[in-house]
Amino acid sequence: MRITRFAPSPTGPLHLGHAFSALTAHARAEGGTFLLRIEDIDRQRSKPEWERRIHDDLRWLGLDWPEPVLRQSDRLPAYRAALTRLWSDGLLYPCGCNRRDILEAASAPQEGGPRFGPDGMIYPGTCRGRDRTGPLPEAVPLRLDLARAATRIDGPLRWTETGEEAGPREIAPGTLIDDIGDPVLSRRDMGTSYHLAVVIDDAHQGVTEVVRGRDLAEATPLHVLLQRLLGLSVPAFHHHRLIRDDTGRRLAKRDDARAIGLYRDEGASPADIRRMVGL
Ligand code: GLU
Repeated sequence: MRITRFAPSPTGPLHLGHAFSALTAHARAEGGTFLLRIEDIDRQRSKPEWERRIHDDLRWLGLDWPEPVLRQSDRLPAYRAALTRLWSDGLLYPCGCNRRDILEAASAPQEGGPRFGPDGMIYPGTCRGRDRTGPLPEAVPLRLDLARAATRIDGPLRWTETGEEAGPREIAPGTLIDDIGDPVLSRRDMGTSYHLAVVIDDAHQGVTEVVRGRDLAEATPLHVLLQRLLGLSVPAFHHHRLIRDDTGRRLAKRDDARAIGLYRDEGASPADIRRMVGL
């Protein structure tokens, strides 16, 4: 049975891009199950009011999903268990670098300047030599040692894309080091990170196809690597086109002008929203 999900963070209003993503995921469930998941690991920016409005806007659009809805803030023990496993396998190291430290290290002459990947600035590995013994460190960011992780995987990373440019994908795990850099799997004060939480919860909820925007496609090799390291099943990935504003920029949280709530207030119907996003 097909299981898809829409996984917004309750840090602002849903805009047309979210509507398109949710409608696409709902349609892709094809009589199976469409799930709503609240990705609220960022406790500073997540607000109950935004969460309430997400439910309200999605219902208004005509979507339905099983209750109760999974909230990532309730899943910290599961993330911790995965971190403990990766830590015991010697694949994590504590990292005390802030953005400025990383920028400085990446700007050293031999590094050739900062580069960016799906986990932000590509980390030059400054803390890779730090102590990895003892119990899982608390309240300190933990990074995945990609070079070592790649040696634990037999063969290439494989998955299937079902959206644009559909087809099988295959990539050698070693290439992630250059394209992504050692990613943070546990952020300070969060006990997890987007990449870790999303992979664990997709597996926990039995998601068979991850539907999301093309902007997240470059994180997929990392997600497949984590699935393989943690012994989780690898779903299909459907990366869809992005909804852009009149100037061609893709919509982001700051685009409150395109919030679904505002269109609703102006009298738009759910059918109008579907038309606006090209459905
Ligand atoms: N919470 C993520 C976002 O709002 C969802 C990412 C995903 O679907 O994997 O961008």
